Amino acid sequence: MHTQVIIIGAGPTGLMAACQLARFNIDFIIIDTKPAPTHESRAMLVTARSMEIYQQMGIVDKVQEQGNVISKFAIYMKGREKATLQTAEAGYGLTDFPNVQAFEQFKNEELLYEQLKATGHDVLWRTSLISFEQNEDLVFANIYDKSDPFRKIVVKASYLLACDGASSVVRQHLALDFAGGTYQNKFFVADVQLNWQQPLNKLIASLSRSNFCAFFPMYGDNNYRILGTLPESFAGVDDVSFDDLKDVIAENIKLPLNINKLNWFSVYKLHHRCVDSFRINRCFLLGDAAHIHSPAGGQGMNTGLQDAHNLAWKLALVLQGVAGEKLTDTYHTERYPFAQWLLKFTDSIFAFMTGRNWLIYLVRTYLMPLVLRMVLSKKRITRRMFRVLSQIWYSYKNSPLSRQFIKQNLKFSAGDRCPYVITEIDGQPQSIYHLLTEAKFHLLCIGTNLDGGQMPDHLLPYIKIVNLPINEGWQKLGVKTSLYLLVRPDNYIGLLSDEISPALISGYFDTFKGN
Ligand SMILES: Cc1cc2nc3c(=O)[nH]c(=O)nc-3n(C[C@H](O)[C@H](O)[C@H](O)COP(=O)(O)OP(=O)(O)OC[C@H]3O[C@@H](n4cnc5c(N)ncnc54)[C@H](O)[C@@H]3O)c2cc1C
Repeated sequence: MHTQVIIIGAGPTGLMAACQLARFNIDFIIIDTKPAPTHESRAMLVTARSMEIYQQMGIVDKVQEQGNVISKFAIYMKGREKATLQTAEAGYGLTDFPNVQAFEQFKNEELLYEQLKATGHDVLWRTSLISFEQNEDLVFANIYDKSDPFRKIVVKASYLLACDGASSVVRQHLALDFAGGTYQNKFFVADVQLNWQQPLNKLIASLSRSNFCAFFPMYGDNNYRILGTLPESFAGVDDVSFDDLKDVIAENIKLPLNINKLNWFSVYKLHHRCVDSFRINRCFLLGDAAHIHSPAGGQGMNTGLQDAHNLAWKLALVLQGVAGEKLTDTYHTERYPFAQWLLKFTDSIFAFMTGRNWLIYLVRTYLMPLVLRMVLSKKRITRRMFRVLSQIWYSYKNSPLSRQFIKQNLKFSAGDRCPYVITEIDGQPQSIYHLLTEAKFHLLCIGTNLDGGQMPDHLLPYIKIVNLPINEGWQKLGVKTSLYLLVRPDNYIGLLSDEISPALISGYFDTFKGN
């Protein structure tokens, strides 16, 4: 078998990689050991940045229809509400998706799988990677189809994407160190039907000395995800059942509650680990195969989706002969620092929320609610929190792909996610994100009208020109005179310039030509 890319693993990361490669008409094979998509809810939240990717793919409506918006986040202690954050529209004016959106992992996988099938592709289920070799030009992947155990297949591919999760066979085969550690506390998750007097749009985090519990409302009547740490009394107990924990949960939250039905339950250890290179020759590591961390902040699945979104267009341009390996190298340059930041960020939240040290406990119990009550009422602070947790804040401004030649004093720079600006589209005010949906670069020409004549001929198929007026939205961002933004296919600004010429655009593409 021969293909351009082989994707190992059809979890959210692998499915996103496959859908993105399909957008660029790249030939690929995607395999997974499982017989079908997972039914475990696992990750719960979809960040605004991931929603923007779904919007670009034309599938975001389904998330909004079948998901649940969380409009309040409350901290409880001993049955009392100590601090509340109104999260409804917290990101208003920053993105088309200003809410905290719950949409379970299995639904994300279903959505991506449906999208993949709509492009005429499918996953090879019950198929595992056993081993592989690589040389300068190709990867040789030995795969094995469980329904035909005597048939081992060798797939020759230009690239291999390791989307095979936390126990990645690819990572082990490459003998990569998965540096980091394992948290002492064990974690539990339970998807339940719960009757209590709380509104269905309110996420509750309940803190106590012995353990931490969070109650996530999910789509449907009284469906909740309860997650938390096991109290110390469970140390060394291997076979914890949900019945063993019911009293612990009731004791923690100290609110009357009635759990009617258990849909899924799991106890697991949490790790915080990361490889130190996301690329080894022709193999790339993405999602949990490359980095794992605590679920604090709901970033896990989303980071895998964004890894795939970052890498796919780069592979496509190399395979289409427009770029060289320098471009694919920037996958590590851009995503590794984010993973490092994420590990530190989730580590500190997790340590603070679950630490059993008496000093941390006192700060968490008495000081934090006071501080939170003060800061959460400040819109500026809630917006900043939204920007971080929704992953729209991150910039690749130190990437070699970010170039700028500007004299104007702008509030954004090359490497940033494309600015969120409302403009008139088909007579309606809409965000410019509605115009950034093609599987190519978009050249936004602000305050000027450009046609294809200004573009190097050989790059015409890879760039779409979008002419926009300088309106109030752009003026607020400092735009005074004509400006050009060459927006990458993942909607980050590659090139930012006051002037444009065929030579400038060619020069930009030439920067990632070499190997
Ligand atoms: C119990 C639990 C609860 C979680 N809760 C949260 C949460 O609340 N919030 C959050 O952000 N994250 C949570 N996570 C983490 C989140 O689920 C992961 O970050 C996410 O699944 C990563 O996606 P992935 O596609 O990279 O890996 P995975 O989802 O692990 O997918 C990897 C895929 O690769 C396949 N595979 C593995 N080896 C091979 C092989 N050799 N050949 C072929 N296929 C292979 C597997 O079958 C699997 O389908 C949770 C995880 C668990 C286990």
